[in-house]
Amino acid sequence: MLNKDSIQVLREIHLAPSFSLSYTDPLHIVRGEGQYLYDADGKQYLDAVNNIQHVGHCHSKVAAAATAQYQKLNTNTRYLDETIVNYAQALTDKLPDELDICFFTNSGSEANDLALRIARHVTQSKETIVLDAAYHGNLSSLIEISPYKHDGPDGSGAPDFVHTIPMPDPFRGKYRGEESGKEYANEVQIAIDKIQESGKRVSVFIAESLMGCGGQLVPPRGFLKESFQKVSKAGGLCIADEVQIGFGRMGDHFWGFETQDVIPDIVTMGKSMGNGHPLSAVVTTKAIAGKFNNGMEYFNSFGGNPVSCAVGHAVLNVIEDEDLQQNAKDVGDYLKSMLNELKVKYPIIGDVRGFGLFLGIELVRDPQSLEPADKEVDQIVNSMKEKGILISTDGPDHNVLKIKPPLVFNRENALFLTGTLDEILSWDKERLYT
Ligand code: PMP
Repeated sequence: MLNKDSIQVLREIHLAPSFSLSYTDPLHIVRGEGQYLYDADGKQYLDAVNNIQHVGHCHSKVAAAATAQYQKLNTNTRYLDETIVNYAQALTDKLPDELDICFFTNSGSEANDLALRIARHVTQSKETIVLDAAYHGNLSSLIEISPYKHDGPDGSGAPDFVHTIPMPDPFRGKYRGEESGKEYANEVQIAIDKIQESGKRVSVFIAESLMGCGGQLVPPRGFLKESFQKVSKAGGLCIADEVQIGFGRMGDHFWGFETQDVIPDIVTMGKSMGNGHPLSAVVTTKAIAGKFNNGMEYFNSFGGNPVSCAVGHAVLNVIEDEDLQQNAKDVGDYLKSMLNELKVKYPIIGDVRGFGLFLGIELVRDPQSLEPADKEVDQIVNSMKEKGILISTDGPDHNVLKIKPPLVFNRENALFLTGTLDEILSWDKERLYT
């Protein structure tokens, strides 16, 4: 077995330098089980960040479903296959009635690219409204609509068909407080007016109902509902990007968009859908899928293959059998209440937010100026790792600790996480600021 140093050397020789590694001292993980990861020395880490391994690392039922189907058959959607249709039925059963047509794809990016293509075809327009700091994927079409990327290092900004509205951030955004939903939705209207005044049509509004890369952000009440109404009235379509937040993670709801009481025209999903197996989907209405069926076949070599569908179906079954949505609610609420206790104790915690097991802790140097505590965040993430807990950072100011563990995370794990965070936050300033 290669040791850590040899892997790093080979990585430098053969892997593109654009790939990054987490942590100052990178991890060499060799095994995973449930909410735990193990490094080559046998050290256990509590995984509080890998939302892709939704039902737990290496879940035996998911692995068994993949193996059994792989040993039996793996073809594609050009054959009649019960595994594919059974999964499509089970998946759409989880969605509002009108969302009952699936396109299967292989990554969140691929799903979002297809969703855009569908919307552009149906509306005969490219004019797209996006949230500032949003990330929707790594394909060229998605860098174009992802301010997180095109406004970042070496980005070339938004193309003229992309209209960016301020991040609906009730904590430090353009408008603040829980009642700011209307004001942010009005920004969507301003974008719509601008598109229409230039003689064009609105194509699509794409948003995560809680922003991931935007910093585990919960938009203010009513924001999506009003925004969706305005976009629909203008003839545009609304896409809910559920890649990070779907499949029960919210606790009270199976989908993120349900927290804002909306029904999107198109939903995209990925990450957790296959528990690490590359599986994603676009789900939409019969009417929209029918309009997109313009004679140009949609074929995807891997998307919707029977092995992927068997995996996806097993994930849905495990969520149900192990009551993981309820666990996300119970443990998430417990964890959030303890994080709020830390917030009272440490002024550096500016905001604790999120639903279920999708939580963010925004750190600030000063509660008045809200100066982002970005260096401290890095220090905390690395120190937590040394103490056996994996969390990560996000947000445009790089000052949000993100917590989005596999849904098997338990109360004991929550106690360990908050106890360790408490200890680190109690360090003197010098130690925290390095
Ligand atoms: N949408 C969102 C909200 C995401 O967070 C991501 C990935 N972080 C994507 C799309 C892209 O997914 P993938 O990496 O599977 O292409």
